[in-house]
This record gives sequence, structure tokens and C-alpha cells, in this order.
Amino acid sequence: MGLQSIDAAGNLTWSCHNAECAQLSANVSHELVAHVQADVVSLPPCPCGAQTFLKVRFSDAELAAPNMVDKNGRPTPSYAMAQRHIQLRQQLDTAGKAYVALNGKLDEKGAA
Ligand SMILES: [Zn+2]
Repeated sequence: MGLQSIDAAGNLTWSCHNAECAQLSANVSHELVAHVQADVVSLPPCPCGAQTFLKVRFSDAELAAPNMVDKNGRPTPSYAMAQRHIQLRQQLDTAGKAYVALNGKLDEKGAA
């Protein structure tokens, strides 16, 4: 689960939770790639109906958690995944699709 890849042009690939489904892809410009909360982005639904939601903000503590670094201090696949999700958020911000709270103000956590 989570993004398998994101490139500099904002092309995303991922898979839904159903192992029988094919890999999915979309560009960040797709209207269904959008924030649903300040820290959550939804992706277009899979043909099976499953929709993927990604956490796109991480605190320093979360990025330093035991699952993010191995015993030798090297980043784990979980850390790489988090970085891809952060990159997705940054690309959405660049594309003018930053999270906007219901009061119309940019979320203050946007600087994180
Ligand atoms: Zn599926």
C-alpha cells in the first residue's frame, strides 16, 4: 500500500489493497488526486472500487520512529515511502492543489 513511485513530472503509481488488481497510475493533476484532510490525500479509485488514502505529512518524531531507520542507521522502505508521500504533497502544493481548510485559509501546517 502507498505510492510505489512518483516522478518529477508528478506521475504516480500505486496498487490497491487487492492483490489481484493491476497497478494503478495517475498524474497529480488528476481531479481525483486531492486532499481530503490536511494530512491525507486520496487517489482515484481502483476499478474494483477500492480507494487509496495516503498520509502526506509526518512529524519529525514520526520520521525518526524505529520503523524508519534500521539498526545501522539506514533509512527503511517505510522511510522511503514517507518521502514519496511528502513529495506528493509538495507537488500538489506546487500544482495549486494545496490543502485549504473549510474556512478558506491555507492550513498552518503547510510549512511543515
Ligand atoms: Zn483494486
